[in-house]
Amino acid sequence: MDLSVRDIAYCKGVGTKRADILRHELKVVTALDMLHVYPYKYIDRSRIYRIAEIADEDTFVQIVGQITESHIIGVGKTARLVATFSDGDHVVELVWFRSIQYVKLELNQPYLLFGKPSRYNHTYNFVHPELTLMSKVSPEKIQGLEPYYNTTERMKSAGLNSKGVRTIIAALKPDLQQGVAETLGMDVVRRYHLMGMTEALSNIHFPKDTPTMRRARERFKFEELFYIQLSILRKMKRREQHEGYVMQTVGHHFHHFYQQCLPFPLTNAQKRVIREIQADLKSGRQMNRLLQGDVGSGKTLVALMCALLAADNGYQTCIMAPTEILANQHYQTVTQMLAKTSVRVALLTGSTTAKQREPLHRDLQDGTIDILIGTHALLEDNVQFANLGLCIVDEQHRFGVAQRARLWYKNSTPPHVLVMTATPIPRTLAMTVYGDLQTSIIDELPPGRKPIYTRHYSIQNRATVNRFIAEQVSLGRQVYVVFPLIKENEQLDLQDLQNGFNRLCDTFPQYKISMLHGQMKAADKEEQMRRFVAGETQILVATTVIEVGVNVPNASVMIIENAERFGLSQLHQLRGRVGRGAEQSYCLLLTRLELSKESRARMDVMVETNDGFRIAEADLKLRGPGDMQGTLQSGQPFELHIASLATDTQLLEKARQAAMEILSEDPLLENEQNRIYVNRLNILRLTQDNWSDIS
Ligand code: ADP
Ligand code: MG
Repeated sequence: MDLSVRDIAYCKGVGTKRADILRHELKVVTALDMLHVYPYKYIDRSRIYRIAEIADEDTFVQIVGQITESHIIGVGKTARLVATFSDGDHVVELVWFRSIQYVKLELNQPYLLFGKPSRYNHTYNFVHPELTLMSKVSPEKIQGLEPYYNTTERMKSAGLNSKGVRTIIAALKPDLQQGVAETLGMDVVRRYHLMGMTEALSNIHFPKDTPTMRRARERFKFEELFYIQLSILRKMKRREQHEGYVMQTVGHHFHHFYQQCLPFPLTNAQKRVIREIQADLKSGRQMNRLLQGDVGSGKTLVALMCALLAADNGYQTCIMAPTEILANQHYQTVTQMLAKTSVRVALLTGSTTAKQREPLHRDLQDGTIDILIGTHALLEDNVQFANLGLCIVDEQHRFGVAQRARLWYKNSTPPHVLVMTATPIPRTLAMTVYGDLQTSIIDELPPGRKPIYTRHYSIQNRATVNRFIAEQVSLGRQVYVVFPLIKENEQLDLQDLQNGFNRLCDTFPQYKISMLHGQMKAADKEEQMRRFVAGETQILVATTVIEVGVNVPNASVMIIENAERFGLSQLHQLRGRVGRGAEQSYCLLLTRLELSKESRARMDVMVETNDGFRIAEADLKLRGPGDMQGTLQSGQPFELHIASLATDTQLLEKARQAAMEILSEDPLLENEQNRIYVNRLNILRLTQDNWSDIS
């Protein structure tokens, strides 16, 4: 019977109970589904080691030898079985802790031993090794690569450990010979030199050698990435059919600002990006653009100038920021820059009072307000625009999907959308998570920026750090001290912050110190921030509420406490709060003395480079593919089973290209020969619909 319709319950070694578990844990329903459960690693079983050759702990080895002696140590629950295993020249020790009554050992018979050695005094130890009498070892077993499968606790409890899964899949091997239907078009298979479906399935589970196994895996990785790209790009093509407001005029507001109000010349990158956006705005199609730029690259100014273009064409703009502090800051910046113009700017946040709102709502609705800056508050239903033409979302990863969706629905015709990232994001992420957006990149910082000098200290060196603070303050500079705040143990973190504040007050009684955290009342926050901005306080102790956007040019020192608890992009974003004035700026990362390998690597990257694009790539590599959810608070729209956004960059590019080639000829996949792709997309049902409509 066709593997795609054969119920997994009726496959050899399964049955209804295991079938239930497989369906629940791995979404496996048919025999074919089972074949698409891919191994996560392989162990070369063709190599037999001599004991003297064992070099590494923790990698599996195989040895042929005999058990020379065995005995039980201890009694009852703590009893263990210990045996000595010799290959003729050397010995290793074997140990069993569990179910030792079932372990049957024959002395002085040749065995094949398989397991993971660990060093113990002067010998190697194998805990619960796999032992097979040589007379019972099947020749296949020691020929090739043995696949290992991920399992769950629930699977293990039903005997579906890696070996159990392997046995079920091995039993399906003969059926594979009938062939399994291709799920990629033959043109793609050929053009990209991919292994065909049947061959790839066979070689991913039972590879004859490493190169073949790699090719098989590559085919499935490609396929996985290809369908994601196809789905994203199809969405983009469909949206390109959406009409957008036509903003053709470059008028008075823009020209006046450009000629009279610009405090400094634009960088070439800023100019290029503004041209790219301008082209979108007049195209008649709705713009969906991602603006990437490093911290401090001047994205706000770009946003402002786009808003002026919209105003020149009679449209309103909203600029949405993730925090109140940041919205305030934008409002200050923008009103200052537009002081000598007739453009009307307003601010709307959670702390805007009902009394202030009334005229604001009215002015919005009759079009008196040109630019509305705010937080989530501007998503509320009662906030109605006369003619919203452009939505700019700043530091977008902090916004949830639903929130952006609401922006969209404020108009019958969708407004143009510009999404700005806080820090650069890795290329692979840009191609997947934001893959349906056009991208603009500001790859140049304004002139005269000095790289921020970054050092890593353990808290044992706090005295050095304090001396440094004193020295900088005496030079007239201001200092940030930032503590992590994590929702789960907010109380503890706030305690940390309070302790840190007290400690600084004790150490520096002569200085004025501000404190800022998210749980303070808005008015108090504002006051603390104001004092620091005005230079009335020398040190600002804060949680990450200051992470985004805050701009105090005289602050030239950023001290990050418990730096090991921050992710790389957050560290980089925090560091970007300094280095905004003319002075040499510093960032000191404070951590515990003992660090995990990964934390240390993160500190090293920070010390080494100021380049946000490099940091973003390093971040993804360090954290690996599994942990992207944290970065993308909007959630990951799809799950990767075999491909990795950390390492499969080139494959992803190929997959994107393949998808693009198909869509450029047949944008809506209507041709008969592309039916295979439509069907597959329907089956995979990548949940793009839930999110990408909105940005
Ligand atoms: P980000 O891209 O991180 O949002 P901002 O827009 O906050 O960066 O800009 C950072 C700082 O750089 C601001 O103080 C801004 O006034 C300044 N700036 C922006 N563009 C230029 C430029 N072309 N030349 C000099 N300074 C600039
Ligand atoms: Mg910014």
